[in-house]
Amino acid sequence: RSARGNWHSRPRIGIMGGTFDPIHNGHLVAASEVAWVYDLDEVIFVPTGRPVFKLDRHVTNAEDRYLMTVIATASNPKFTVSRVDIDRPGVTYTIDTLRDIHAQHPDAELFFITGADAVAEIMRWKDADKMWDLAQFVAVTRPGYTSPSSQLLSEGHVDTLEIPALAISSTDVRRRAAHGEPVWYLVPDGVVQYIGKHGLYRGIAIGSDQDT
Ligand code: ATP
Ligand code: MG
Repeated sequence: RSARGNWHSRPRIGIMGGTFDPIHNGHLVAASEVAWVYDLDEVIFVPTGRPVFKLDRHVTNAEDRYLMTVIATASNPKFTVSRVDIDRPGVTYTIDTLRDIHAQHPDAELFFITGADAVAEIMRWKDADKMWDLAQFVAVTRPGYTSPSSQLLSEGHVDTLEIPALAISSTDVRRRAAHGEPVWYLVPDGVVQYIGKHGLYRGIAIGSDQDT
């Protein structure tokens, strides 16, 4: 029996994949909303290793991104963090994430959570057709991005969910931190402090990478 009192025969687990460079409140609201609407027992945040769509830009080292994700999620009893992607050598592909989490939770029903922008990339991901067997995809709305194509939706592999709009991106948080502008309330307090303590994003070159 779930927290909402519904009966589910299998555990329901959300997977929130991301670069989390850094994790911000948009990620947390997305995970929280999908957990509520889909009656999930747990949401596993999975920081990527080397993201396949970001090979052209500098990404903060995996341990810093992992620790910020742990700090940001620690107070929520349903949120956990997995190292599967950062511990797997090479470029991160979502199919591998799904296979690893499935192997660890063979009886669970999996829900892969993405923003409206990221789901557009799904079609281009390795073994896209095999991913549908492993998880239901849930694309949440994100300010500035249009919803996934009707073709993707009509096939039933991807649901869309409207969530409270937070026009926050990691790109903007990095840019702000690089310029000494405030990031309070865009990311959890512990993440603000972690960025300051370790001098993350200081003096980084800011590209125009808003769409990945
Ligand atoms: P970057 O600007 O570096 O690409 P990002 O803010 O897009 O960072 P990611 O780590 O790339 O963050 O995103 C992880 C997942 O979270 C993606 O599926 C993305 O679509 C989703 N997401 C990120 N920010 C939001 C937001 N503000 N609202 C809804 N979904 C979001
Ligand atoms: Mg992104």
